[in-house]
Amino acid sequence: MKSYNVLIVDDSPITQRKLSDILTDAGHKIAGIVSNGLEGSELYLKFKDTIDLITMDITMPVMSGDKALERIMKEDPDAKVIMVTAVGKKDVMEKCLKLGAKNFITKPFDSEKVLKVIETVGVQ
Ligand SMILES: [Mg+2]
Repeated sequence: MKSYNVLIVDDSPITQRKLSDILTDAGHKIAGIVSNGLEGSELYLKFKDTIDLITMDITMPVMSGDKALERIMKEDPDAKVIMVTAVGKKDVMEKCLKLGAKNFITKPFDSEKVLKVIETVGVQ
């Protein structure tokens, strides 16, 4: 399996930790962990050459994940962004797919679910 450099954007320390553990246990690397969409989009756009993919929470302070996604896709249409969201947010999920999100991880998630979704993204 390929090793990806992943940026985690989520305002929940528990989710940050859980995602980070799952990814590193599977051999991936963590490019960074930030707590809102503004920091996430800025960090990504600055270091996009070294970041393979982003996991992006939706509900966050300062800037939501869908706004950050929009900002990222405008600057880098090749960005690989996976949204992380609670089930039942169908409208936002559809909006994010239209904006260019590659896939979704629904909460609650486990290792199998996360790694399966990451496999579908097809990072080069
Ligand atoms: Mg959140």
